[in-house]
Amino acid sequence: AATERESLYVVSEYARDYFHETMLNTEQGKAIGLSYFKERGFTDETIKKFQLGYNPDQWDAFTSEALRKGYKLDFLEKTGLSIVKEEKQFDRFKGRVMFPIHSMSGRVLGFGGRILDSSKKAAKYLNSPESDIYHKSKVLYGIYYAKQSIAKEDNCYLVEGYTDVIQMHQSGIENVVSSSGTALTSDQIRLINRLTKNITVLFDGDAAGQRAAIRGIDLILEQGMNVKVCAFPDGEDPDSFSRKHTQEEILNFFNENAKDFIQYKAQLLVEQSKGDPIKRAEIVRDMVESISKIPDTIKREIYVQECSRIMDISESVLYNTLAQISNKNQ
Ligand code: ATP
Ligand code: MN
Ligand code: MN
Ligand code: MN
Repeated sequence: AATERESLYVVSEYARDYFHETMLNTEQGKAIGLSYFKERGFTDETIKKFQLGYNPDQWDAFTSEALRKGYKLDFLEKTGLSIVKEEKQFDRFKGRVMFPIHSMSGRVLGFGGRILDSSKKAAKYLNSPESDIYHKSKVLYGIYYAKQSIAKEDNCYLVEGYTDVIQMHQSGIENVVSSSGTALTSDQIRLINRLTKNITVLFDGDAAGQRAAIRGIDLILEQGMNVKVCAFPDGEDPDSFSRKHTQEEILNFFNENAKDFIQYKAQLLVEQSKGDPIKRAEIVRDMVESISKIPDTIKREIYVQECSRIMDISESVLYNTLAQISNKNQ
């Protein structure tokens, strides 16, 4: 099975090169793929570094070239790059710009492909299917390029998308990864945990981003890590924000707006409750739920004090609630 996996890597790395070279060296690639990335503000250096590419809008441009080069259809199918139907072979990613997804050590595991015209009915992003080398829930986009910086800065920025990672890199902020295309998982957080105990969540400034951040908080706390959340103005994401500001401005914004999880939750939930006492009770319970995930008892105590102060509820009531929650979870 080890040799079969190696074959899947080799096919994926061929595909990465094909998509990259097709974008840089063909008329269609330049006119459509390359100009798309240029319009998003990506430099040549960035495009090279992240090995971005383009697959032409044809049925089998990639697959037929790969077969001609001698790559086996079996491996093309197992990586999901090709789809076999009624003895015909098609490309999975047609007319899309391509983002290779790398392992911690830089091997190509799979791809994300984006359509160029958002008005089309097709899904905006399409990802490689699960395979023997690509397990969505265990991969973080950008980890290969970020690992050194995460260790050095002792902090990891967590974003939602491919372009957020890339644009932040281009702005000079390299300690950034994304869960791209899946809800954040414990396995993904474990990858970060090997490099730092500190995560700053930078999710999109919309309802979906907020929900995802709230979900992520508890998963991060469970692993004994520290989590801050920095909210973006509505309609902005780290990509759009980074494009408009210098590195210094971006870092200042993060430093001023990143809130410790308990403060972030309190503020968000208080906004939603608008003074309703029943909602307020739910908020406190929700905050205590998060605190209950913290393995370290001293830290837990500090957060109980903090919650008591912010929500103006006695610590003893909070400890009772904490005890109820941990009984319920046993
Ligand atoms: P862009 O700036 O290119 O429009 P984005 O990264 O801002 O993309 P979002 O809509 O914020 O895209 O989604 C965040 C991430 O979720 C994407 O980068 C992608 O990994 C994933 N995603 C978005 N839409 C889909 C989809 N239809 N299918 C699978 N994954 C998706
Ligand atoms: Mn979004
Ligand atoms: Mn986004
Ligand atoms: Mn975006």
